[in-house]
Amino acid sequence: MSTYTELLKSPQWISLRDRHRARTKSTCEDCGAKEIPVDIHHRVYGRRLKPWDYPDDNFVVVCHPCHRTREEIADMARTIFQVLDPATAHKFLSRLLHSKGALADTCGRMTKNMEVGV
Ligand SMILES: [Zn+2]
Repeated sequence: MSTYTELLKSPQWISLRDRHRARTKSTCEDCGAKEIPVDIHHRVYGRRLKPWDYPDDNFVVVCHPCHRTREEIADMARTIFQVLDPATAHKFLSRLLHSKGALADTCGRMTKNMEVGV
């Protein structure tokens, strides 16, 4: 059995990776940075699937900082699903996705409150 790192050296992965890099001309699909080193991010992982066994729309071409951000957000989302029941977690995360302005206002207000010790 191959490790994940070994699988990412396989011809199947290299072919997929290069195809997606060519598709975007190595432009980060999150921040728009052009002609930089990019990673191929899996939107969703299946435990028994090989890294290349997904439809094309499961892959996002991202720069290293944006890839880290996506992984951090995924980790936080997993934590939210661990502490809330699944329906509440889904509702909470869905609302965050669709209310960026409200989220920014709340985040700004909470940060300001922390600074003044409220
Ligand atoms: Zn980026």
